[in-house]
Amino acid sequence: MSRIICIANQKGGVGKTTTAVNLAASLAATERPTLLVDIDPQANATSGVGIDKAGLKHSVYDALINEYDPSALVVDTGHPFLHIMPANSDLAGAELELAPEIGREQKLKFALAALAPRYRYIVIDCPPSLNLLTVNAMTAADSVLIPLQCEYYAMEGLSQILNTIGLVQKRINPLLKIEGILLTMFDARGNLSRDVAEEIRTHFPGQVFETVVPRNVRLAEAPSHGQPIIYYDIASRGAASYLQLAREIISREAING
Ligand code: ATP
Ligand code: MG
Repeated sequence: MSRIICIANQKGGVGKTTTAVNLAASLAATERPTLLVDIDPQANATSGVGIDKAGLKHSVYDALINEYDPSALVVDTGHPFLHIMPANSDLAGAELELAPEIGREQKLKFALAALAPRYRYIVIDCPPSLNLLTVNAMTAADSVLIPLQCEYYAMEGLSQILNTIGLVQKRINPLLKIEGILLTMFDARGNLSRDVAEEIRTHFPGQVFETVVPRNVRLAEAPSHGQPIIYYDIASRGAASYLQLAREIISREAING
């Protein structure tokens, strides 16, 4: 049985791509076959695992628009158990092209259904918008993981994404769950991160991951080397946090069935 987790937050720069790349790599490191799916036209997850996006002939765009055979779009990252369905800038036009299509919200779901038997986990990196691409991800997914940056206005905008999740549950994907809220870029030196974390845990009891991702320069450096953090610097605090997140997700699943 495969499990599809979409990483979403319409706010930019909160750690979606960092989480998608490093969670996928950490899950794969447990020898569970994992597929990372990039549906952001910025294609940061694609370059984050070392794929040259400019050199791609085909991408997830072809699955959404041209109904390409999805298995022909999967690329090996060179890391064990980790494949990617990459994105490139073609995807920027996808939303407009999808708009008049019948079943426009379900394109990704059908593409991934064909691949699901091969993977234990599928992790989808969303763009910073609640657009049709993100709705495609939520429609295909079993759950949504929401990264939240530990800063003053962190909770602003959270009601918007919860509202979108609610609409997707009501109209298209009634089984969609919230995997959890992940606190990112936590700065242990100041009080602000701690205060924000406490406030979010109070507002969303039981819905915030125990794992907290620290602000860690190694996490920010790794993408420029095209490597997930566990291959760039396994000894970093960033690597430890994403390995812990993977364990938390795997063990929680064992409890919930
Ligand atoms: P976008 O909305 O543009 O897609 P995003 O939500 O995917 O952004 P990221 O690209 O993951 O966010 O992170 C934004 C920036 O912050 C990147 O430069 C990334 O390297 C850096 N970053 C992310 N997480 C951390 C962290 N825990 N510590 C330090 N830097 C981080
Ligand atoms: Mg991103």
